[in-house]
Amino acid sequence: MTKKLSAKDLDTFRNSLTRAQALLSGDMSQLQQELLNSDSGFETRPGDTSDGYFQEFNLELLERDGDTLREINEALARIEQGNYGLCENCQQLILKERLKAVPYARYCIDCQRKAERDLI
Ligand SMILES: [Zn+2]
Repeated sequence: MTKKLSAKDLDTFRNSLTRAQALLSGDMSQLQQELLNSDSGFETRPGDTSDGYFQEFNLELLERDGDTLREINEALARIEQGNYGLCENCQQLILKERLKAVPYARYCIDCQRKAERDLI
């Protein structure tokens, strides 16, 4: 039922995270440079759905603080390490719907609830 994230999914989440990272560090100009210069990962293909994903990721909910930025940096590191999308507690795949809403989520919903009650 739970499908592993595809390379395209990972690209999409990496894209969202990179944009959120740039927004949080208040550095949109650098992001635009990256978009212009990069020839991998950031190409803007007509009909690409990544913007759709990105819109679901509600930036209004982002807290402009170091904690969120750190979570985003760690999520990007997990993409590089190949363990992005796995719950850090139970090692189960985090639902894609959850990652769309919170791309830097480190726990599945069950474990997140436990974490909020300090049970982990
Ligand atoms: Zn879990």
